[in-house]
Amino acid sequence: MAGYSVEERAAPNSLEYRLFFKDAAGRYISPFHDIPLYADAGKNVFNMVVEVPRWTNAKMEIATKDPLNPIKQDVKKGKLRYVANVFPHKGYIWNYGAIPQTWEDPGHKDENTGCCGDNDPIDVCEIGSKVCSRGEVIKVKVLGTLALIDEGETDWKIIAINIEDPEAENYNDINDVRRMKPGYLEATVDWFRRYKVPDGKPENQFAFNGEFKDKDFAVNVIKSTHEHWKALIAKKTDGGEISCTNLTVSGSPFCCSQECAKATVDASWPALAATDKFMWLMSRTVLRRDLRSPQCSLERLVCTNSCYLLFHFLFQAPPCKAANPIPPEVDRWFYYQKN
Ligand SMILES: [Mg+2]
Repeated sequence: MAGYSVEERAAPNSLEYRLFFKDAAGRYISPFHDIPLYADAGKNVFNMVVEVPRWTNAKMEIATKDPLNPIKQDVKKGKLRYVANVFPHKGYIWNYGAIPQTWEDPGHKDENTGCCGDNDPIDVCEIGSKVCSRGEVIKVKVLGTLALIDEGETDWKIIAINIEDPEAENYNDINDVRRMKPGYLEATVDWFRRYKVPDGKPENQFAFNGEFKDKDFAVNVIKSTHEHWKALIAKKTDGGEISCTNLTVSGSPFCCSQECAKATVDASWPALAATDKFMWLMSRTVLRRDLRSPQCSLERLVCTNSCYLLFHFLFQAPPCKAANPIPPEVDRWFYYQKN
C-alpha cells in the first residue's frame, strides 16, 4: 500500500480506538497532511485513504481535530456511530475514504452549491471490486462527482476507481460507470439521500438535482479543495480546532519532529492504560529500592508486587487489539418507500 502502514491503539469498536499512520521508514505521519494529494500528478492519479471498507457499518474517519489525525470511530451522544442498513444496501456500498491534502473550507461558500464546506478532507467512493482494508492507502483514478448537501453544508462525493482494479483501464469518466455498472450510480444517490433517516434526520439534498458531474469537473473540485488545504496548513486560514500537526509539509508552521510525533501517539494511550503504566513504574521503582535496602525482606517484596498486581487486575485497560463485539442492532434493516 504505497509504503504506508498503520498501527492500532486500544480495542476496535471502543471509544479509545485509534489507527495511526506510518510512512515507509516507519515514522509516524498524519494521513490528512503528510500523504501527498497525487500518486502520479501527470496522470491525474490521486491517493485515497480508506476509512470504511465496503459492506461495513462502523463510521470510521480521519480525526481532523486529533494530533496526527488518526482514524477513529465517529461518536454521537457518547455512543459509537454505525450507519444503518437501508434496504437493499448493506453498510457502505463502496470503499469509502478521503483524499489527503484537501479541505472543504467551512468559511468558503462553494460557487456551485451556494453552501459552505463541511470542514473535512474531500470524500471518495471507490467502486473497484476489491474490498479494501481500513487505513489502506490506494491510488485512484477520478471519474466524477456528486454534490451532496448534508445538513446545509457542501459535501462533495468523488467517484473513483482503484488503478489496480483489473478493469480500471475501461473506466475513464462517469458515463463508463453508468454503462458498465448499471444501477450503481442510482444506488449511490439513494444511499446518500436516505442513510441518516434511521437516525431521525431528514433526507439529504443534492445540488444539480442529484446529477453526477464528469471527471474534469471532479478534478477541478479536488484542486480547489487542495488550495484551501494549502492555506490551512500554511496558517493563512484559521482552521479553528483542526490539528495541522505534520512531519513533512515544507514551510508549514505546524511541522513537528518525529520525537514529538511519537510522544503524541504514546500520549494517546487510554487513560486507564496510563494509570496502569504509572503503577507499574512505581512498583518497579519501589522494588528496586527495596532490593537495595538492608531491610529487604521477602514479605516486603511480596507486598509491593501484590499491590501492583491487584491494581493491574482492578483497572486493567482493554487489550490492544481484541475487538469489542459489534452491537447486534447494527445488522437491523430499515425499509422505506422511495419518494
Ligand atoms: Mg465530507
